[in-house]
Amino acid sequence: MPARPGARLAHVTDHGFETRAIHAGQEPDPRTGAVVPAIYATSTYKQDGVGGLREGYEYSRSANPTRTALEECLASLEQGSRGFAFASGLAAEDTLLRALTRPGQHVVIPDDAYGGTYRLFEGVEKHWGLAYTPVSVTDVDAVRDAIRPGETRIVWVETPTNPLLNIADIQAVADVAHKADALLVVDNTFASPYLQQPLTHGADIVVHSTTKYAGGHSDVVGGALVVRDAEHAEPIAYHQNAVGAVAGPFDSWLVLRGLKTLGLRMDRHSHNAEQIVDFLQGRDEVSEVIYPGLAEHPGREIAKRQMKRFGGMVSFRMRDGEQAAVDLVNRTELFTLAESLGGVESLIEHPCRMTHASAAGSPLEVPPDLVRLSVGIETGSDLVADLEHAFEASKA
Ligand SMILES: *Cc1c(COP(=O)(O)O)cnc(C)c1O
Repeated sequence: MPARPGARLAHVTDHGFETRAIHAGQEPDPRTGAVVPAIYATSTYKQDGVGGLREGYEYSRSANPTRTALEECLASLEQGSRGFAFASGLAAEDTLLRALTRPGQHVVIPDDAYGGTYRLFEGVEKHWGLAYTPVSVTDVDAVRDAIRPGETRIVWVETPTNPLLNIADIQAVADVAHKADALLVVDNTFASPYLQQPLTHGADIVVHSTTKYAGGHSDVVGGALVVRDAEHAEPIAYHQNAVGAVAGPFDSWLVLRGLKTLGLRMDRHSHNAEQIVDFLQGRDEVSEVIYPGLAEHPGREIAKRQMKRFGGMVSFRMRDGEQAAVDLVNRTELFTLAESLGGVESLIEHPCRMTHASAAGSPLEVPPDLVRLSVGIETGSDLVADLEHAFEASKA
């Protein structure tokens, strides 16, 4: 393997989050002065004599300067030692599992994991010989009981979870995992590194679907891993190159561009979400509003400790059941009916038949009366009015 290209991280590690989001890994180009990292649309690099690599670049599966910039920025934002960018969140997850587990080992996963993560374990990794147990990761004792000593290699946590917005205590689960010599992996997609930095609470590796808040504009599919210890960087770097599910230069550039405004966006997502939660709490049609910032949310105190704010995802249950949920999601106009989340535009969906349809009949099945919102950064009062109109139209 060539030496790691780039490594322009050190000079910004003392700075605040927003500064690092804009500068980490992204010095002006020394030749042209270009302020923004270029999209290096190249597969290969001229060598100055055999093996004479310039800054370590040899072939773009192994490394590409645009991807390096993104990887350094992500590592800085998550306060990790090294970042890796992939073609999708699931590609990142699969590479992580290839790199750090072997057939015969076992993983503990959340019982309300992202549907695609569950499908990866059930439909792919299981056939490779990797066993898994879904548990409620909000329950530290349940996690401890699910661990198989000597066999469990990874405890996998999402917090907040998708779509039920359960909160896991990262530090407590890290302690339980480490006592059993297992690693703690946190899927930080929902919070983003602006709201939560799991590596600072004891996690070993952070996973992202950069498709969501990191990219933030619903115009790219991507994934990332950030590791705390160099020890775990080695096998992941090897597998990133050996498996090859890397982020392309244009996709890397889009995510890097998105990261620059992550802090601004997350504050606005959180602000709008709070307004919508207030509104939903006043509606008779809604039997339960689920948001980690609510006093009655069982994870509120933990969320307050490990998150800066409570984020842009809001879920709620319709008193009249599945059909009422389906009717509502069909009637909004500003809230677009679509899967995915984390973009500037507001989205609405019915998890049971959409994002979580692949979990039907499994322990990860979600309630049929559930509606999930990805609250965007539009004018908050317009979003409230759109929902109000949809509720009223459903009544008529
Ligand atoms: C979307 C998502 C993923 C998968 O990422 P892709 O980019 O779609 O492959 C993983 N975890 C969570 C929490 C997600 O929302």
